[in-house]
Amino acid sequence: MKRLEGKVCVVTGGGLGIGAATCLRLAEEGARVAVTDLDVDAGGKSRDAIISNQGEADFWFLDVTSQNGVSEAFEGIRERWGRIDVLVNNAGIAGVNTPPDEVRAEEWQEVMNVNVNGVFYCTKHVVPHMRASGGGSIVNLSSIYGIVGAPDLPAYHASKGAVREMTKTDALFFAKDGIRVNSVHPGFIWTPLVEKLARDSGEGVEAFRKTLDERHPIGHVGEPEDIAAGIAYLASDDAKFVTGSELVIDGGYTSQ
Ligand code: NAP
Repeated sequence: MKRLEGKVCVVTGGGLGIGAATCLRLAEEGARVAVTDLDVDAGGKSRDAIISNQGEADFWFLDVTSQNGVSEAFEGIRERWGRIDVLVNNAGIAGVNTPPDEVRAEEWQEVMNVNVNGVFYCTKHVVPHMRASGGGSIVNLSSIYGIVGAPDLPAYHASKGAVREMTKTDALFFAKDGIRVNSVHPGFIWTPLVEKLARDSGEGVEAFRKTLDERHPIGHVGEPEDIAAGIAYLASDDAKFVTGSELVIDGGYTSQ
């Protein structure tokens, strides 16, 4: 028996990077996967990859900053498959890399809107569906930068701290409904988000990657599949006694 047989899983930002790897892994574990993203091409490719791998999936356009859009997409998924058991709040952006006193208010708001408000809207609108299914699992993508600081990306780090704390509060509120809520804290994972940081660094992509590799005691950055494996565990009943917890997958980064 696969661990997610019979479950319906929704992944935000499921078109690329960690989200795409997670969609594939959840489907391999037997779930029906609602791939959602605002990038229609990437989301469609992610769905197609699952189907060519003999999995079950469909794509819904979803911008997590639109509360109405979130609510409508979740209604559509429930109508299609009858239930929602798992939500992976994965969509996120890095925002500007300038010191806090140079970040413009609109730049700050943009990051909070996707990384914090998006998690709020998706959680708010998935809970009624999970209650109707008798419970569920919500997995929130925080970061090592929800745990420790760094002198870059100030809005991003603040947003990931918020996600870490929202996770614990939501875990306490929804425990009585059988809904578990946990956060995942990746170290640097080589995805389009990090590749863009590398291109923008002015250091050169290879040099940037080497510097990142050296910052992880294990000797290298992670792969999207490393995070997908942790998310699949939290989504599954193997984690039935796990809520409000922080799963750190960071090659030792935060142990230093
Ligand atoms: P990614 O490669 O940029 O993929 C993120 C996906 O989310 C993209 O498909 C993106 O679409 C989508 N997205 C962006 N804004 C959205 C919105 N408003 N609504 C719906 N989808 C949206 O990112 P990633 O590196 O896989 O990161 C995934 C999550 O893990 C993020 O929350 C990130 O903060 C977290 N994380 C990543 C790392 C890392 O090192 N990669 C480390 C710690 C935590 P577009 O391409 O169209 O923008």
